[in-house]
Amino acid sequence: MKLLVHIEHDGVAVRRGSLSALRFAQDVAEKTGGSVQGIVLGSGLEAVASDASRYVSVSVADDPALGSVVAGSHAQVITAAVESGGFDVVVGTSTSAAKDTLGRVGGSLGGYMASDVVGHEVSDGDLLFKRPMFAGSAIATVRLNGGPQVVTVRDSSYEPCEPATEAGAITPVEASVTSGGVEVTGAPAAQGGRPDVTEAQVVVSGGRAWKSSEDFESHVGTLADLFGGAAGSSRALVDSGITPNELQVGQTGKIIAPQLYLALGISGAVQHLAGMRNSKVIAAINEDKDAPIFQVSNYGIVGDVYEVVPDLIERLKEADA
Ligand SMILES: Cc1cc2nc3c(=O)[nH]c(=O)nc-3n(C[C@H](O)[C@H](O)[C@H](O)COP(=O)(O)OP(=O)(O)OC[C@H]3O[C@@H](n4cnc5c(N)ncnc54)[C@H](O)[C@@H]3O)c2cc1C
Repeated sequence: MKLLVHIEHDGVAVRRGSLSALRFAQDVAEKTGGSVQGIVLGSGLEAVASDASRYVSVSVADDPALGSVVAGSHAQVITAAVESGGFDVVVGTSTSAAKDTLGRVGGSLGGYMASDVVGHEVSDGDLLFKRPMFAGSAIATVRLNGGPQVVTVRDSSYEPCEPATEAGAITPVEASVTSGGVEVTGAPAAQGGRPDVTEAQVVVSGGRAWKSSEDFESHVGTLADLFGGAAGSSRALVDSGITPNELQVGQTGKIIAPQLYLALGISGAVQHLAGMRNSKVIAAINEDKDAPIFQVSNYGIVGDVYEVVPDLIERLKEADA
């Protein structure tokens, strides 16, 4: 199979999630005797292209018109690349941006899509995907009866790939795009300059126990900073306007699997667990000893977050000093 991987980046380097998408693609190529090519889109891509080529040969669409991630424009370029390159499978990560872009690619090409893939196998030359259903309560095995196949994989399910022994080729591609009437006028900066929950090794998350944005920031945010990690949130806090949407972890938020997940005042509803239950170590603080979060936790403290978290912050500061 010939696979094209949509590589996301931060303007300088390849995002960790895309290395997981590359891992998936390389495995499929190996099992089917196929090949993998990357595609990078954006503006001012010299550093990104060089970083991406450490892993795979890349086509680079470097154009000011692609500077903002407008799904329609990016999809036009990827669609053209799939058509001219005769790719069988287009692969990306399960981010909102990639699902938006690649969904359009599938639509334009009359292709077939499997999103949120958490596993795969090749059986008699067919690619079979495993994907969660019902908030992760069941895992379906799916076969796409047609092509091209468009796949987004969960980075929490695939280890990032390693750099190749030899750098890949960098090939510029023509980007002829129409904006479709969309203009991006700005993007909010990440809160506190912290990493995104999908990229961090440690995620400190807060739930309804926190009464205000200020409380959240001075406790959950401070603890996240002490760990050099990301701040996350349950949907309850997002819905009440205490935390921004991009912090939400869960079925309708982000799906993550950090080394350490700290749940502070989160009950552990099934929709929240769907986003973090694959974390390597889970620790929870909750005043209710019967809170479901404790059922998936490796460590737990029964107590008031307004008392335990300041104490934890003090101890970590002392240990750091
Ligand atoms: C279709 C659908 C999709 C959803 N998607 C998501 C999703 O992506 N992510 C998500 O998180 N939710 C999602 N939800 C919502 C989910 O069902 C829960 O309502 C939500 O996760 C609850 O958030 P919470 O744990 O912060 O709040 P609660 O369930 O209210 O829990 C608060 C917890 O804090 C504890 N607590 C309170 N005060 C203190 C204190 N001072 N000290 C210590 N502990 C304290 C309580 O004992 C309780 O366990 C979704 C729901 C639906 C229907």
